[in-house]
Amino acid sequence: MKTNVKPRPTIFMIFGGTGDLAARKLIPALFNLFLEKYMPKEFAIIGLGRTSYSDESFIKTLLEGVNKYSRSGKADKDKWKEFSSHISYLTSDVNDEKDYKKMSDFIEKCENEWSEPPVIIHYLAVDPKFFPIIASNLAKVKLADNTDRTRIVVEKPFGHDLASAKELNILLKSIFDETQIYRIDHYLGKETVQNMLAFRFANALFEPIWNRNYIEHVQISVTEDIGVEDRGGYYDGSGALRDMVQNHILQVLCLVAMEPPVNFDAEEIRNRKVDVLRAMRPFANEEIRFNTVRGQYGDGWVQGEKVEGYREETGVDPESNTETFAALKFFIDNWRWQNVPFYVRTGKRMHQKSSIISIQFKDVPHLIFPSQSSESWQQNRLIISIQPEMSIRLQVQAKRPGLDMTLNPVDMVFNYDGTYENDTPEAYETLLLDAMKGDQTLFMRGDQVETAWDLLMPVLENWESRKSISFPNYSSDSWGPETAEALIAKDGFHWFTLPIKKGEKK
Ligand code: NAD
Repeated sequence: MKTNVKPRPTIFMIFGGTGDLAARKLIPALFNLFLEKYMPKEFAIIGLGRTSYSDESFIKTLLEGVNKYSRSGKADKDKWKEFSSHISYLTSDVNDEKDYKKMSDFIEKCENEWSEPPVIIHYLAVDPKFFPIIASNLAKVKLADNTDRTRIVVEKPFGHDLASAKELNILLKSIFDETQIYRIDHYLGKETVQNMLAFRFANALFEPIWNRNYIEHVQISVTEDIGVEDRGGYYDGSGALRDMVQNHILQVLCLVAMEPPVNFDAEEIRNRKVDVLRAMRPFANEEIRFNTVRGQYGDGWVQGEKVEGYREETGVDPESNTETFAALKFFIDNWRWQNVPFYVRTGKRMHQKSSIISIQFKDVPHLIFPSQSSESWQQNRLIISIQPEMSIRLQVQAKRPGLDMTLNPVDMVFNYDGTYENDTPEAYETLLLDAMKGDQTLFMRGDQVETAWDLLMPVLENWESRKSISFPNYSSDSWGPETAEALIAKDGFHWFTLPIKKGEKK
């Protein structure tokens, strides 16, 4: 990982510059990097889109996005003026080769005028169907061949299944070197997710017990309280398995389960993560119904308001077979994790928005306390909360103050808010800075993406070939289908949730 490297002069070519991602995430992230002095002195941001805009009107729409979405709130007028003097807009159609000539003219001008040749980042914030044409056209105008300075950032989803991911990899790798390809999974840029590496490998305490001898099971739960909102059309062709499990959840699982890397190099860390995916036990067709659960939300009440079911959402097929909830039980066939179940679940319109990793340790070998003193006994648990609360909790048993010997679980808590004064950077800030520096640690490598697809293909094919007769099978504002509780309860466990604090919005 290139921790202290200063970014070189950089040009961001944002394909889809007028889109939602640019307004909501990319420009606020670049502006925050500028405010915190991470941007190089020489940089340019070029918004690309079909709609015709002047530079001024484009910048004005971006400012609205920053004011609305940036973690640092409304933009300071002078700072924005200084930052936005680096922004321009090029009306262009991704399909039109001539428009790429305009881009290369702009880049050539910067190359001639700047103090050193810039890094060029082609950021593909467009519909994935455009990824191949953009990559091919960049190659045609020779905007792809400088392996040291030219990079391409590819947004999710990377493929729709194993075959399409392979096809896209083959195309990209025929144009770019793997070291130029940055497949983004914004989850990996989140502070708490990155902290998994620090937590596991910068402390002597956990590694000796981080294995099948001490850990009973692991849970990764990523739940959203919202439905598909205005993304119904897109989501109906995707579903929870593709949207969350194939990328974010499996990436997090890799960080929990990976072997200690030899050093902090991007390739070393990515190799150890791929090892986990390769060791994951493939799903045999006859086991799928025992080890997986799918769900789709029905209507219900959320905070006193009636909400529609998934099949009534705009853009969704009224008889849709798409899952909005998925729960799976994985095993990792290696020495460290043999027979330790990894339960993962994700769903929309759930009772709570939260992303939690919960590691449950085995029970003490012998209980010395009388049964009445340990009624609320709880095995040790390590809970890493990614959002909304950013914390790490170690649940241990303690004696409740009093004259009786009564034991109850208490939390030793490391809470980001209480520990650090600085505002935590957004995932996109971390990832854009890494892309500028040429650090691929937190980006997915081609083989990683394909191995993750390979693992899930039997489940995807099984679910697609069998229409669910029970959909919708959970109501909005619930914890998902009852069968998801059964998936984990039959092994003697239950899904762990963090209680919502009083007065906190769900
Ligand atoms: P969007 O529909 O808001 O924007 C799409 C952009 O593509 C627009 O700027 C549009 O002008 C441009 N475009 C469409 N056809 C074009 C053409 N022929 N030539 C040139 N430009 C064209 O989409 P979005 O929400 O910004 O998403 C973009 C990508 O980012 C998608 O791959 C999406 O899956 C991914 N993504 C988005 C978000 C998000 O929060 N919006 C989050 C994660 C990933």
